[in-house]
Amino acid sequence: ATPTALLVGTGRGAQLGILIKGPEVLESTRRVDTVVLDKTGTITTGRMSLVEVVATDGTDPDELLRIAAALEDASEHPIARAIAAAGIDRLGTLPAVESFQSTQGLGVQGIVDGHAVVAGRQQFLADWALHPGPDLSAAKDAAEARGQTAVLVGWDGEVHGLLVVADTVRPTSAEAITELRSLGLTPVLLTGDNTAAAQHVARAVGIDEVIAEVLPEDKLAVVARLQSEGRVVAMVGDGVNDAAALAQADLGLAMGAGTDVAIEASDLTLVRDDLRTAATAIRLSRRTLRTIK
Ligand code: ADP
Ligand code: MG
Repeated sequence: ATPTALLVGTGRGAQLGILIKGPEVLESTRRVDTVVLDKTGTITTGRMSLVEVVATDGTDPDELLRIAAALEDASEHPIARAIAAAGIDRLGTLPAVESFQSTQGLGVQGIVDGHAVVAGRQQFLADWALHPGPDLSAAKDAAEARGQTAVLVGWDGEVHGLLVVADTVRPTSAEAITELRSLGLTPVLLTGDNTAAAQHVARAVGIDEVIAEVLPEDKLAVVARLQSEGRVVAMVGDGVNDAAALAQADLGLAMGAGTDVAIEASDLTLVRDDLRTAATAIRLSRRTLRTIK
């Protein structure tokens, strides 16, 4: 059930699209000194697109896309949506997938055209003894250095190529980080994505502290660890994989277009998908608190 939404600074909060769960939330905004930010969907738009198809020698790039897109069509992940959409767009209808299985934060597997197909992170494919050769590894490193995500695709005991998907940093994110810093908060980027891509995005928006390649179930532990170091943590996220960490944080902020689970786990909801509203919410809450006291 949606709690009664109290508006920060009453009319101002409403205008700005900031929803707060209850008056007790205001107190937390005064104490926070660290803001942990999810990358995909929070600092970036989360709207991914397929930008490159790299097939190994002997693999037809269209066949690689067809098989990967068929598999990803069964997944809800933004990366999967991008690959499936590009496949349908370029190749028309896709083959069916059987025995589909998704492993959060790692990748997907299933049977397509009689092949047992695996797609996802390198460590995920390694579990099936699938390892990319030097050419694919180089293509993967290059994509990640550009801040993009490489999805490795393998079947029949071999990695057949990779698909590169790219996301866009929200145009307002850098300014938001500057504003959060001016409120005395230290920003930390937390993501399940690879370290190189995470660092690229962190540099683009002005964040120095990066915690990458964190599995969804471990995001909560990262927040708890920061708290055990004496930090008072605000967390901004959007995804199902952020919900536990949002609840663990001293102050949880959900991006408005995010998932219901994330919104439910949070203290504040930013109706507009603009990270600058996080800073505004904290500033307004602190001011409201001064007015009340
Ligand atoms: P984030 O923390 O940035 O929201 P996730 O924890 O959802 O990211 O995913 C982490 C990584 O796991 C992705 O960057 C991707 O490499 C891999 N991954 C997750 N789901 C899929 C999928 N359906 N297909 C391919 N790769 C995936
Ligand atoms: Mg996310």
